[in-house]
Amino acid sequence: MRYIDPHIHMVSRTTDDYRHMALAGCVAVTEPAFWAGFDRSSPQGFYDYFRQLTETEPRRAAAHGIKHFTWLCINPKEAEDPVFAREVIALIPDFLDKPNVLGIGEIGLNKNSCNELSILEDQIALADRHNQLILVHTPHLEDKLKGTRLIIDAIRRNTRIDPGRVLIDHVEEHTVRAVLDAGMWAGMTLYPDSKCTAQRAADIIEVYGNERIWINSAGDWGHSDPLAVPKAALEMRRRGHLEASIQNVTFDNPQKFLGQSPRFKIDE
Ligand SMILES: [Zn+2]
Repeated sequence: MRYIDPHIHMVSRTTDDYRHMALAGCVAVTEPAFWAGFDRSSPQGFYDYFRQLTETEPRRAAAHGIKHFTWLCINPKEAEDPVFAREVIALIPDFLDKPNVLGIGEIGLNKNSCNELSILEDQIALADRHNQLILVHTPHLEDKLKGTRLIIDAIRRNTRIDPGRVLIDHVEEHTVRAVLDAGMWAGMTLYPDSKCTAQRAADIIEVYGNERIWINSAGDWGHSDPLAVPKAALEMRRRGHLEASIQNVTFDNPQKFLGQSPRFKIDE
């Protein structure tokens, strides 16, 4: 199969991971800016991270025949200090012209705090000013439903944002409907032992259908699986899902959403 992993943190993965993903049929990845496992001590730390995302990773991916695209932002976990966060946001426009940048992400909420919400609104406005796609991180566990609602409302308040250009990631059974009803796209993050498993993702597709939805591994520095997308495809096949439906969530849908950016081009 040919597939796209539209949310994976390759800066945390090895060269062997790239190789295994290429062997499994991965043709493109998109990598949102995220929390690196530690708080950066200065905006300069983000400047260097944005260079890594826009210069180094595309080269590392290309060595395995994989196209690498990225999203830039300050993640919600490091957005609790608004002065610091705004200094980071001020760096982003200089990187938006890089050829692999698709948009602003993964913005969102972590603890649903007032400061996080204010920085989220600033970054929605940034996406609006520069006509960028938006990729959203939603909080974990008990904060998820409330956080997802706060995020959808924050996006709707900016009436110039087309909901069809927003993807809300990490949806689960109790949040997917609100995202789809808002006209936005939904991402399911497949983790070995938290968030959504391949089985739960297949269940959600059986209930909610396969339109405006994708799956991703969100592979990072923690316990995660860079081959989660092809493994979920196996689970869908085992259950008798049609090949066209599997291709929808692993290739066609990501291509359709991401293709709204003229930068997203993969070989047919
Ligand atoms: Zn992520």
